[in-house]
Amino acid sequence: RADERESLYLVSEFANTYFQNVLHKTDQGKAIGLSYFKERGFTEDTIKKFQLGYALDEWQAFTDEALKKGYNIEFLEKTGLTIVKENKRFDRFKGRVMFPIHSMSGRILGFGGRILGNDKKAAKYLNSPESDIYHKSKVLYGLYFAKQTIAKQDNCYLVEGYTDVIQFYQTGIKNVVSSSGTALTPEQIRLINRLTNNITVLFDGDEAGIRASLRGIDLILEQGMNVKVCMFPDGEDPDSFAKSNTLTDLSDYLTEHAKDFIQFKASLLARESKNDPIKKAETIRDIVNSISKIPDQIKREVYIQECSKIMDISEEVLFSTLAQIHKKDY
Ligand code: ATP
Ligand code: MN
Ligand code: MN
Ligand code: MN
Repeated sequence: RADERESLYLVSEFANTYFQNVLHKTDQGKAIGLSYFKERGFTEDTIKKFQLGYALDEWQAFTDEALKKGYNIEFLEKTGLTIVKENKRFDRFKGRVMFPIHSMSGRILGFGGRILGNDKKAAKYLNSPESDIYHKSKVLYGLYFAKQTIAKQDNCYLVEGYTDVIQFYQTGIKNVVSSSGTALTPEQIRLINRLTNNITVLFDGDEAGIRASLRGIDLILEQGMNVKVCMFPDGEDPDSFAKSNTLTDLSDYLTEHAKDFIQFKASLLARESKNDPIKKAETIRDIVNSISKIPDQIKREVYIQECSKIMDISEEVLFSTLAQIHKKDY
């Protein structure tokens, strides 16, 4: 089994080198892939650092090359790099720019591939499937590059996508990771928790789903971490905002707009339910439910006091709601 995993790593590392060579050394790679990355504002250094690549727009260019180099079809299929169908072999990634996903120690676990432009017919991002080396729920994109800075700064920025991580890093904020579009898992949070107790979650400004994302944040509170959240202006995400701002402006924006999560949620819910008593009652349960996830009793009490002010409801009611929730849990 250890041998087989090693074979999957070796195939993935071959693919990683191959996609980078295609990007930098072929006419199609340079004309399409490299110019795409440059348009997005990525420098040559950044492209090399993150080992970005390009998959040719051909049916089996990668697979043919890998077989020629002696890589076993079994492992090509298990990593998902090659799709085998009725004895025919196809490249999974075709005409996409490639983002390799690294383990904590820098080995290649899988890839994300983005279509060029904004063609609505194909999925914007295509990812490697789960395999014996790639478990999506246990990986954070960018952690390999960010881990030292996360520990040093004692804070981790959590963003949605690959390009958010890369653009932040290039701008000079290196303590940044992404769950790459999937809902945050307890395992992913644990990876961050080993390095720092502080997370700042950065939402895309176009997010209709902020309310849904708020749920996932309770998982961070459960691990006893301090959570801040920050939104970007309408239509912007961390990538586009960082691209059009200097490090100073970006840092200032983050300092100014990052809000304590519980306070943010309480204000948001209070605003939404202002004129609706039924909704306000639900809202109070919702916020106290988040507070109930915090392991530290003193912090819970401080937050109850805060929320009492923000939501204009007595501390007594909030404390008794908290007691009810705790009773249900035990
Ligand atoms: P870009 O700036 O390249 O358009 P983005 O990162 O801003 O992309 P979002 O739409 O904000 O894209 O999505 C955030 C993340 O969710 C992506 O980086 C990617 O990891 C994941 N994702 C988005 N669309 C898909 C998809 N169709 N299939 C799988 N994952 C996706
Ligand atoms: Mn988004
Ligand atoms: Mn985005
Ligand atoms: Mn984006």
